[in-house]
Amino acid sequence: MHTHRFQARVAVLLIAYLLFGSSAIAQQGAKCGFDRTVRSVIQFYPVLANNFNALTIESRATAKTTLEGTPTVPVIFHFVLTQNQLNQIGGTEGIEQRIDSQLAVLNRDFNAQNADAVNIPGAFQPLYGNAGIRFGLAHTAPDGAASPGYEITVTAKNGFNIENEWGSGFGFSGAKYAANDGADAWDTESYLNVWIINPLEFGAATNILGLAVPPWLATKEYGIDPVEKGLVIHYGAFGKRTALTDHYVSGSDLGRTLVHEVAHYFSLLHTWGDDDGKCPSNGGKDDGIGDTPPQAYSSSGCPIFPKTDGCSKAAPGIMFMNFMDYSNDKCLLMFTHGQVARMRGTLEPGGDTYAFTQQPWLLEYPRTGNNPILNDFTVYPNPADDRVNIVFHRQPQGLQSIFITDMLGKVVAAREFDHQSSFYTFEMAGLYSGIYLVVLNFNDKKEVRKVMVR
Ligand SMILES: [Zn+2]
Repeated sequence: MHTHRFQARVAVLLIAYLLFGSSAIAQQGAKCGFDRTVRSVIQFYPVLANNFNALTIESRATAKTTLEGTPTVPVIFHFVLTQNQLNQIGGTEGIEQRIDSQLAVLNRDFNAQNADAVNIPGAFQPLYGNAGIRFGLAHTAPDGAASPGYEITVTAKNGFNIENEWGSGFGFSGAKYAANDGADAWDTESYLNVWIINPLEFGAATNILGLAVPPWLATKEYGIDPVEKGLVIHYGAFGKRTALTDHYVSGSDLGRTLVHEVAHYFSLLHTWGDDDGKCPSNGGKDDGIGDTPPQAYSSSGCPIFPKTDGCSKAAPGIMFMNFMDYSNDKCLLMFTHGQVARMRGTLEPGGDTYAFTQQPWLLEYPRTGNNPILNDFTVYPNPADDRVNIVFHRQPQGLQSIFITDMLGKVVAAREFDHQSSFYTFEMAGLYSGIYLVVLNFNDKKEVRKVMVR
């Protein structure tokens, strides 16, 4: 019964996009599917239009935040890709590298530590804001088990459509259900869920690289189950490029697509207000943030400062280097103080992301209270079949290398490090059954654990 209703929805949406041709063309250039999804949902739930407009009212943004310190949000990354797509990004090792670099970018940009902030024009420098939000891998799963903070679902589907027939039918919802060959969310109140997929539009490739379904949108009131809260990102826009040969979408290889989508999750809107070129001065919507300049349309590429438009007609013009615009990754540099206040406000008591700050043990395993043992780690599964994971309960210190040897000391797998990740996966397929040794070399000690391979 549900299926028919959602098929009908998709049909209506398709007709709508065909009828409003100019809108459809404008949408083709969109890097982010947020605006499109809000519009689609409004067609079925008009009450959303009023609530969405409330977000564009500036009084919300200027409220003083009472949140103190720098909370860390537990993140779970769900990779839902075909084997070919997984291979394109380097398999498990490539995934770990991209997770490391993506988290580094999030923590840098949400803490005003991006070195390229020197490129912010002088006129906008005083507006450079520090969100003071950190992101960490979820090392305890909802069932209490250890986790590397990511999971891989090898799907038979080449990709997932933005409008589809699963769940709400909006926002790539099909990727968010295991029953549809996707991956189920982890408790969306406790964890920030990120699905890494191949996004499609009516079965074909799309320019949409990311999409956020924030808490205020994922409510039964709009036909969106809260299990769909979270972010979706193109697998070629996830992480930060380290080599020219890495598989990335051109212009979106510095990890800032996810910075943009995470900010949507914390209630930010696009700087141009998603109102088809109108300005606040002539009845257009705005982003509800007092210190971002009015802006008519989204930017693209890397504009040259100052760039003026119909809504900001004089220098310094529009803030095309704001993370909530569509410029290329290398030209996105800042949040403003007003944007920061709105984001932090959602993390306060009563805010719709408050629960993220209340379970810090989800970042560790096992639950260790205030004194986690330095460099404590878990080897699992044990016995192992085709792979073994080594998960640190906190970021390891002084880790130099990991070897896996047989009982005679012969090395069967090894890795050395120039950085410290908190999880490592070793492929064990093809090894004889038996006991193996996991050897971790730290600056000041060596740790050995046994693992059985079946
Ligand atoms: Zn967006």
